[in-house]
Amino acid sequence: MARLYGGIDLGGTSMKVVVATAKGEVAGSAGGPTTPGASAAATIESIAQHLETAASLASVHPDKLKGIGIGAPGAVDPKRGIVVTAPNLGWKNVRLGAALGKRLGSPVVVGNDVQVAIVGEHAFGAAKGCSRVVGVWVGTGIGGGLIIDGRLDRGARGAAGEIGHVLLKEDGPLCGCGRHGCAEALASRTAMERDVREAARNVKTSVLKIMKEREKTRMTSSVMARALKANDPVMKRVLANAQHYLGLLVGNLVNVLDPEMVVIGGGVAQRLGEPFVQPIREVARSRFLRPDPDGKVRIEPSILGDFSGALGACALAKRELR
Ligand SMILES: [Zn+2]
Repeated sequence: MARLYGGIDLGGTSMKVVVATAKGEVAGSAGGPTTPGASAAATIESIAQHLETAASLASVHPDKLKGIGIGAPGAVDPKRGIVVTAPNLGWKNVRLGAALGKRLGSPVVVGNDVQVAIVGEHAFGAAKGCSRVVGVWVGTGIGGGLIIDGRLDRGARGAAGEIGHVLLKEDGPLCGCGRHGCAEALASRTAMERDVREAARNVKTSVLKIMKEREKTRMTSSVMARALKANDPVMKRVLANAQHYLGLLVGNLVNVLDPEMVVIGGGVAQRLGEPFVQPIREVARSRFLRPDPDGKVRIEPSILGDFSGALGACALAKRELR
């Protein structure tokens, strides 16, 4: 029988679970909502039950899996399998790896959700076969990760890849980290929503109306897609501004790290695809210090879609547990 791995993408609103082969073929999947305000123990039990469902669909007992990976939305201590903080879950210092491993009878590896998704794109997706990869994940915030020599590089203190806090405009807007002008404060979905709301005070825009119709309190990627389809001028202008800053960011990263590939992922990229990436690529390339006439540095959207996090977690387990 093929070696099977478990992979869990734990988000603040939902979780996705797969059991997959070492090649990333999904043998069973499950998932459901993450209960807001639930205790860590209750959420871990819910994760375990979804994993049992996915395993039974793949005709394997959880304790026969080669390993289980899990991506959590926050800061993690991968060595000890601890989620240090995950504001979306209300978690602080949760021993996720040990608790889940004990419950399911298989070794568990814990990673940060964005880094895990980038490992997934490297193992099975857009960056397959590359040795140096930078991932830029645009969503509520901006996250990132580095693959160096084919491995996730966490840095000397485990703090590498904080791409969202690269300074792009010293007198720019306030960032969640308390500083001003970070990429995240200029080009995340949250930053774009702030800019749209500000513009809506003076200019007509359909964005707030679409949010109301769809009963969304936040400007989700699907709201953005709808507003762009309707040719909303505010949405177009705000997006172009974010793409400009993302282009500067990617240009800086390419000049520092000289990767073969920059993968742009996260909810916004997944929803908007190539039209989102194309202007970013153009600005980034205009910043390259070393000319790249043959297009050797590829800047591409992620391709794994909904399963990128869960499959990435399988790949993380495979890499860390061999
Ligand atoms: Zn910041």
